Amino acid sequence: MTDLSNIAPRDKAEILAQALPYIRQFHGKTMVIKYGGNAMTDPELQADFAEDVVLLKLVGMNPVVVHGGGPQIEAALGRLGKKGEFIQGMRVTDAETMEVVEWVLAGEVQQDIVGLINQAGGKAVGLTGRDGGLIRAQKLKMVDNVDPNKQHDVGQVGDIVAIDPAVVKALQDDQFIPVISPIGFGTENESYNINADVVAGKLATVLQAEKLVLLTNTPGVLDKTGKLLTDLTAREIDQLFADGTISGGMLPKISGALDAAKNGVNSVHIIDGRVPHAMLLEILTDQAYGTMIRSH
Ligand code: ADP
Ligand code: MG
Repeated sequence: MTDLSNIAPRDKAEILAQALPYIRQFHGKTMVIKYGGNAMTDPELQADFAEDVVLLKLVGMNPVVVHGGGPQIEAALGRLGKKGEFIQGMRVTDAETMEVVEWVLAGEVQQDIVGLINQAGGKAVGLTGRDGGLIRAQKLKMVDNVDPNKQHDVGQVGDIVAIDPAVVKALQDDQFIPVISPIGFGTENESYNINADVVAGKLATVLQAEKLVLLTNTPGVLDKTGKLLTDLTAREIDQLFADGTISGGMLPKISGALDAAKNGVNSVHIIDGRVPHAMLLEILTDQAYGTMIRSH
């Protein structure tokens, strides 16, 4: 933690008081937060994140956490002598990779986050898309970004068919904090690996969340020269897709974000999860931060 001992008490009090309008505005509102993956770097930042989630809950908001796990999956695959392969930002998922994805996400990353939130004084409950029939999925038919007549087979990568948010709502009503692994199930009970940003975007829409906050490992969406783009509309995003400014994991992230912005989620932000308490800055201060995604 940064040393705050030389901030005068009246300044500290002033800073706290400035959060009041935001606490009032967002009381009772749902906040979907995507965490994990590349933003889940060092233990201190993880503890900060867990504290932020608990703080939001205790001041009356309803945080819902969706987590990723790219680096953690990569490490587990490495231990088995496998290397991840990506097409248009999606992990190619054969049967063996799917098994690894399930145990890393549901067994390791999710439970780490649940533990941290509980340690910070919250009551987190881990779920996968199977629990309560939360995420129905089918095999993703991936069309090539450039040639619409070309398709890619990315194995057991899922496309969301439907989200049934009943279990999430029940947990929220009981003061629990849901922590969701992005794994869907199909008609034959088969598992699907779904990009966590896409799950977060769709869940935010279905819950009609006030905010969707995607924490990642860059300051936000960057332009070709590496400069932060603070504000993006659907039209500008089309342009960035077309000229190749957006690639890799940022492709599904922006798609998930835009989908939510177009479908009734009030504000959608991609922010730097490597900054301590990034989420508090975004939600409880007037600090403009990261990239805001707008439908128009
Ligand atoms: P996460 O685990 O947070 O989902 P990803 O690796 O999936 O992380 O996605 C974030 C990555 O997207 C960044 O680290 C960066 O390498 C990549 N990226 C591609 N295009 C851009 C862009 N225009 N601006 C910022 N990041 C980008
Ligand atoms: Mg990603």
